[in-house]
Amino acid sequence: MVLQETEETPAILYIDLHLIHEVTTPQAFQSLRDQGFSVRDPNKVLATMDHSTPTLPVKSLRDLDIVAEKGPADQIRDMIRNCEEFGIELHGFDSDKRGIVHVIGPELGATQPGKTIVCGDSHTSTHGAFGALAFGIGTTEVGHVLASQCLLQRKPRTLAVNMNGALKSGVSAKDIILRIIQKLGVDGGVGHVIEYRGSTASILSLEERMTICNMSIEAGARAGMFAPDDKTFNYLIDKPMSPKGLAWDQAVEKWSTLVSDDNCEFDKEIDIDVDHLSPMITYGTNPGMAIQIDDIVPESNSDLGYKKSLNYMQIEAGRPLLGKEIDVVFIGSCTNSRISDLEDAAEILQGQKVANGIRALIVPGSQAVKKEAESLGLDKIFESAGAEWRESGCSMCLGMNGDTVGNGQLAVSTSNRNFEGRQGKGARTILASPKTAAASAIAGSVEDPRKYS
Ligand code: SF4
Repeated sequence: MVLQETEETPAILYIDLHLIHEVTTPQAFQSLRDQGFSVRDPNKVLATMDHSTPTLPVKSLRDLDIVAEKGPADQIRDMIRNCEEFGIELHGFDSDKRGIVHVIGPELGATQPGKTIVCGDSHTSTHGAFGALAFGIGTTEVGHVLASQCLLQRKPRTLAVNMNGALKSGVSAKDIILRIIQKLGVDGGVGHVIEYRGSTASILSLEERMTICNMSIEAGARAGMFAPDDKTFNYLIDKPMSPKGLAWDQAVEKWSTLVSDDNCEFDKEIDIDVDHLSPMITYGTNPGMAIQIDDIVPESNSDLGYKKSLNYMQIEAGRPLLGKEIDVVFIGSCTNSRISDLEDAAEILQGQKVANGIRALIVPGSQAVKKEAESLGLDKIFESAGAEWRESGCSMCLGMNGDTVGNGQLAVSTSNRNFEGRQGKGARTILASPKTAAASAIAGSVEDPRKYS
């Protein structure tokens, strides 16, 4: 439901699904408490613990104080208490459905085409892979949605990203989105919702589409989406929260109409040549500062603070990044922690060893992904290679749970942000695909995954 916007007032948008976690909710629940409000519809809230949740095993809340620092442990206890008080089901330590909020939504079938989905996390755009309108909101808005199930919004502009061609061996969806952000710049999508289209769109799996939509926000876009198609329906058909029986048939009929008109016009368009795409890596402190892995770092670009960024990264302009020594490899986050991401990494790590002195941390996106990976023996491949295999969570994506990159250390990471200090104080981050991260773990330096393809 949408109440139309006017010049004076934004539209009132009904929210079909509200995803919550322990970090952006404490103030929102407190504000409900202060004003005597209840949660409008607890059935439309999906709650998990991910951001500051330890990735070492926690069997009981008593373990929490052993594996977590006081701040994160308090956030987790608050989340448990808030969900109990407001009647929201929480996927906590005892739930096999726990995981990163943007991994479990699709996995449970809560994410569906045409839904309006919000969460107090920027990478909510992930859910657009299913043809949902999904975007991040702030803490105050989290309170508004909990209390009213509605949000005030203005209509965004439209941006078409036309992707054509097929991915070559060693190249993946992460490389596509890094190329898109490089081309658009970190503010090229501001005020827009992106539709990812073109011949590549229909070839990509739902997990690949999620990786691309996930980072739409890094180009400044409000959200990103793919038109729902048979792949979308096949992904959702057996999920616990998907409609069943006649309701499924009716849903698919409705979802099939959620495509742009053939002759529609977009406010802005860009083209991406996927046929000629190489693996991409970042060299600076925003995701737009990216190059093909065998290019040299540019002497300059239009970013203000370009030199400062390279100084922070201790990376020289005019030189290649290939072969640059690293300290840490992180494979995880809501961008790249699904089963296909782990399979990509395992394919390269199989029978290999992580280089001496390199810490390689592999964190599944959910407990369900963990279970599936273990049933496929991927955990054994990772551990034999010398990598650490953990419980699910956001982990080194933002380093709130104790999993951090050390001060001054250089990490190749499959996460989505290479901002200064994002992975820990003084941490330096190179964003890359799981294939590139795995190849780099073996080499101990930035490595081209095509060497292992
Ligand atoms: S993995 Fe990173 S981006 Fe994704 S939900 Fe967690 S903190 Fe946010």
